[in-house]
Amino acid sequence: MAQSQADTQQDPLGSKPLDAVVVGAGLAGLYQLYRLLQLGLNVRTFEAANGVGGVWFWNRYPGARVDSHFPFYQYWFSKELWDESDWKERFPGQVEIEDYLNRVCDKFELRRHITFGTKVTQAKFDDSSGLWTITTDGNEQVTARFLVLNTGGLFDAKIPKISGQERFSGVAVHTSHWPRDQVDLAGKRVAVIGTAATGIQVIQTIAPIVGQLFVMQRTPNYAVAMKNPTIRQDQLLQMRQSYDDLRERAHNSFGGFAYDEMPPLFDEVPDDRREAHLRSIWDDGSLKMWGGTFADSFFNPQAAAYVSEFVRDRIRERVRDPAVAEKLIPTDYEFGSRRVPLENGYFEAFNRNNVHLVDLREEPITEIDETGIKTATAHYEVDVIIYATGFDAGIGAINRIDIRGRNGQSLKQHWDRSLRTTVGMQVHGFPNLFMTMAPFAPAAALCNYPICADQQVDWITDTISFVHQKQARSIEPKVETENAWMTHHEEVSEPTLLGQNKHSWYRKLGADGRPRELIAYVGGIPTYKMVCDGYRSSQYQGFEIR
Ligand code: NAP
Repeated sequence: MAQSQADTQQDPLGSKPLDAVVVGAGLAGLYQLYRLLQLGLNVRTFEAANGVGGVWFWNRYPGARVDSHFPFYQYWFSKELWDESDWKERFPGQVEIEDYLNRVCDKFELRRHITFGTKVTQAKFDDSSGLWTITTDGNEQVTARFLVLNTGGLFDAKIPKISGQERFSGVAVHTSHWPRDQVDLAGKRVAVIGTAATGIQVIQTIAPIVGQLFVMQRTPNYAVAMKNPTIRQDQLLQMRQSYDDLRERAHNSFGGFAYDEMPPLFDEVPDDRREAHLRSIWDDGSLKMWGGTFADSFFNPQAAAYVSEFVRDRIRERVRDPAVAEKLIPTDYEFGSRRVPLENGYFEAFNRNNVHLVDLREEPITEIDETGIKTATAHYEVDVIIYATGFDAGIGAINRIDIRGRNGQSLKQHWDRSLRTTVGMQVHGFPNLFMTMAPFAPAAALCNYPICADQQVDWITDTISFVHQKQARSIEPKVETENAWMTHHEEVSEPTLLGQNKHSWYRKLGADGRPRELIAYVGGIPTYKMVCDGYRSSQYQGFEIR
């Protein structure tokens, strides 16, 4: 690679600027660091945690595991890594994935480039030098030409403010702050607030361990029964032999999984075959049930209604008490219009004598006191409160950093006025700033993440390389380019059931409390890739290169 451009620039701090700073050492951040080092750049990563893994470092709650099935949840950049990887379960758990990411970090000698236990607090772009000045909570300042935020879309934990919660004398913990030495739950009285992907995993796992479990449900969730066999040696061999084929297909698939066949349209399947069709997909025990039932299941209300009723019946047949079953069944939105979690014994947990469903729509939480949770009609005495209440998704982690672009403008204030990005990776007004898993890309929510991380990191790396080779100072999307992407995004997302479901973390709330754009790009990976590749092959037409 050409001489580092940063060498020739005037650094406001007077020390030699870095070529790039990466924030975050999770799945995307590690790969980002690897790619930039491969370019020969001088790079540093800052990571808030004391270890690598991102969500897989923080979310060590009981039962944490991925919903992406073998062999799709892993890195794709090294066949050698595939040959060495020895996956144990079809849906690997947190421990297995964290170990894997640590192995990757060591294999590619990334650790020495990472400063752990350090949060980036501020990043300011200097118009005259074209450099970012980055400040950490350790009061260190560095300068760099490129700033890449691989901060993850699910980092900034949301704990609802409930009157009196600070008085609670037991243990209160958010699932994404789960302590390394675990929480003693054996025989305890436990409340779990939240029944989405995380809550479901916690509840099904701790139900047999705890004394009493109070499940505080506000909105019931559809969930699909996971099939999670151990992986056999012959499957690992097959995985390695199919690497090229799987890689090609997964990267060109709608959501990052390579399924063998395209699903039919709803009307293409005769009435008397629909049940059997869904049954065969259900029996796969994977997220195929979400995206692979009917080609029009995200658009066609009739198809969505049919699938919803099918899944409701699966809940009914597993929960013994019909009154409890009905409370667990969503009726005011269709299957697939929010993130569909997989579960493994979740519904059966409600057949246990020690598990009690508290329907917060009937009895909302009013207060937390020293001994437990008060609702409109009862008081639940508990020793532990588990908040499985989700995240400020998409932008929470980025907004924790005071980011100032051209003319000192604040990214947070800019987004408070109007949330927008160019393909989820850059923002007009913020030169040389890149991000992954940010809003308006498939990576924001609708993707098997390693596939989307791969594609985004590759695009960012190529873009940085292009600017670097050109010896240009900076790159940022023109406002027209950003507008065109946002218009396309809205046109694609609004007609879908995901776009129409206003109650989901896929939609951010605006300052006025009203839902804003869907953060997930629902046009699929191929269309998204085509747009990104188009920018690259046109040598970034529509971008300002200074
Ligand atoms: P989430 O989907 O945002 O769900 C939060 C849950 O907390 C919902 O049930 C929500 O109820 C409830 N809640 C929030 N505030 C509440 C309040 N004040 N009172 C009562 N209930 C409240 O968060 P998540 O379950 O952590 O999942 C986030 C994402 O992480 C998932 O969608 C998925 O992408 C990822 N994840 C993946 C896996 C996996 O791959 N297996 C596992 C876990 C998480 P409402 O629905 O009524 O708002």
